[in-house]
Amino acid sequence: MIPAAFDYEAPGSVEEALQLLAGAGDREVKVLAGGQSLLPVLRLRMAAPDLIVDLGRVAELRGVRDDGDAIVIGAMTTHDDVTREPLIRQHALLLSLAAQTVADPQVRHRGTFGGSLAHADPAGDMPAPALALGAEFVIAGPSGRRTVAASDFFTDLFATAIEEGELLVEVRVPKYTGWGAHYEKFNTVAQAWSIVGVAAAVRTSGGTITDARVALTNMGLVPIRAVGVEAALVGQPATAEAIRAAAAHAAEGTAAMSDANADEDYRRHLATVLTGRAVLAAAGV
Ligand SMILES: Cc1cc2nc3c(=O)[nH]c(=O)nc-3n(C[C@H](O)[C@H](O)[C@H](O)COP(=O)(O)OP(=O)(O)OC[C@H]3O[C@@H](n4cnc5c(N)ncnc54)[C@H](O)[C@@H]3O)c2cc1C
Repeated sequence: MIPAAFDYEAPGSVEEALQLLAGAGDREVKVLAGGQSLLPVLRLRMAAPDLIVDLGRVAELRGVRDDGDAIVIGAMTTHDDVTREPLIRQHALLLSLAAQTVADPQVRHRGTFGGSLAHADPAGDMPAPALALGAEFVIAGPSGRRTVAASDFFTDLFATAIEEGELLVEVRVPKYTGWGAHYEKFNTVAQAWSIVGVAAAVRTSGGTITDARVALTNMGLVPIRAVGVEAALVGQPATAEAIRAAAAHAAEGTAAMSDANADEDYRRHLATVLTGRAVLAAAGV
């Protein structure tokens, strides 16, 4: 279908974009990033905004920079750039590996890191890695910028802490230099959307797991930290037996949906199996 008619603006800066959002009054506005989720929604007429504010010309929203103990990723950085960017590969390998599993090359070249997080699809592959790594989300609005922890950013199904008139501008990720990482997901052959996904990052020393960060995709309305698994891993030898025993905690505290792809019990089973695989790969076992 063809989307309903809308006005279109393509600002050149964050400031200009915020002014357009603030000036919209009662008109419904949608921000356009890579369009890989928004355009299908418009074409299906599930949304019919009066105004589209396209962030494609806002150069300050693209790219990655080193900020001491963290790296900062611009919201308009594409999935493809996330897979290749050396700073991300060195300090937040989990994000790079997860982005490699998103859709196909065409979608990865258009779709953005920030768009994926702002869209907050429970089956989206980037929210759980961002949660596992304790990312912080920088949101700009009419009264300045504020920072929201990943644990507070995803609030419900397709809902985040971004409010009307605000933009996600960048994501700050603490450095996990030297950590092993892996993103394991289960999907159908025809589509790369995760039925369940597991983001794991671990640090080992002398054959013992000293730190672990694990989060789950599509095991609830929002991404979920597998804190039971993390607690069970720390201090254990990096062996297949110990890792599989810890993975048995994966479904604790989850609230997976049942849908045409899988019912809740099957998703719980998948979470356990995939967590074992993800942590084994992250630990290099
Ligand atoms: C065929 C296909 C297969 C896909 N498969 C997968 C997959 O396997 N795994 C996966 O994770 N994803 C998948 N996707 C989705 C893809 O990752 C999208 O790129 C992502 O969901 C949205 O990013 P975008 O930049 O395209 O955002 P858009 O579609 O432009 O925007 C999405 C939403 O976020 C809002 N938004 C965007 N940027 C901002 C911002 N900076 N501030 C505030 N709000 C903002 C928009 O207003 C909109 O509501 C797939 C998409 C397609 C078309």
